[in-house]
Amino acid sequence: MREYKIVIKEEKLPTRVFCNRCGREIKIIHPESGANYLSVDKLWGYGSRFDGEAHSFDLCEDCYELMISEFKISPKKL
Ligand SMILES: [Zn+2]
Repeated sequence: MREYKIVIKEEKLPTRVFCNRCGREIKIIHPESGANYLSVDKLWGYGSRFDGEAHSFDLCEDCYELMISEFKISPKKL
């Protein structure tokens, strides 16, 4: 049996987002139901080319579409 206490986590919703590739501001649509842009937060492992660096960037839908058009293997649609 478990008893729980309710913990309210502080949630951050972005107010403005800019595409790192094209620099345009992305008009945020329904951030609570899934963003209309790609957000990447990546911590590179030690020994990798970026050796422990943390990278963060966002891409608009147009730039995401362009990026995946260059993939040899398309992203898996779940
Ligand atoms: Zn873009």
